[in-house]
Amino acid sequence: MPRTFPCPRCGEASTWEANEFRPFCSERCKLIDLGAWASDEYKVPTQDAPQAGLQRQEDDYED
Ligand SMILES: [Zn+2]
Repeated sequence: MPRTFPCPRCGEASTWEANEFRPFCSERCKLIDLGAWASDEYKVPTQDAPQAGLQRQEDDYED
């Protein structure tokens, strides 16, 4: 019985052996995942997370 594992992309059970797209179940899932990394889906929201403790509030208005 071949070992199976859930595809990290779609959750489908897939075999590990003779699977050139592992850890994905298929080329489609692999490409989707790579595409997701390249797009905004997995982007770390750094801009929405201000660095607490590192930013000092300085009232520096020079208008
Ligand atoms: Zn899949």
